[in-house]
Amino acid sequence: MSPEAGFQRAALGLGGNLGEPRHLMAQALKALDERDDCRVVSVSRLYKTPPWGKLDQADFFNACALVETCLDPVALLDLCLEIERGMKRVRTERWGPRTIDLDVLTYGQIVLDSERLTLPHPRMTERGFVMMPLTDIAPDLKIGGKPVEGWLKDVDVTGIEVADADPDWWR
Ligand code: ATP
Ligand code: MG
Ligand code: MG
Repeated sequence: MSPEAGFQRAALGLGGNLGEPRHLMAQALKALDERDDCRVVSVSRLYKTPPWGKLDQADFFNACALVETCLDPVALLDLCLEIERGMKRVRTERWGPRTIDLDVLTYGQIVLDSERLTLPHPRMTERGFVMMPLTDIAPDLKIGGKPVEGWLKDVDVTGIEVADADPDWWR
């Protein structure tokens, strides 16, 4: 089903490992869904995942969501960053612990590399914690010409577990 006129479909990646990430991710999705300029179309299962990039920290919760929005890509990024700030995210070290991370994975078919925003998200296809939840909701979505479920076959998913299989876990 295509989005209504003026709306584009975007994929978001959510994660966190400080405080109550599951609760914050649910709050973030509800906040997006309550807006007139953005609605949540589908949400993956909730996953518990080992840390990536920086290993000496707590496990993460991760999920992905599809949204339909009339915001342009940078406005959608700004909205994600505003929601993160509202949840007291503090940036200290790269890939370090965080209450919530809300990344724009894809926006329609747009390919973009600007100072503030790169689309598709440049590291998404290397990450089991992104490809696994994204396969729940968009297995055929093409990233660099290859479907998400194809990327998933090539990525390390060691230690990734389903934490909640109910797609309504965030409601
Ligand atoms: P990673 O980007 O590797 O997942 P991260 O999510 O922890 O790491 P952040 O600190 O959340 O990184 O983001 C740093 C900056 O990345 C943001 O301020 C934003 O300008 C930029 N950025 C570029 N492309 C994207 C994107 N597709 N989604 C989210 N942020 C992006
Ligand atoms: Mg991120
Ligand atoms: Mg981020």
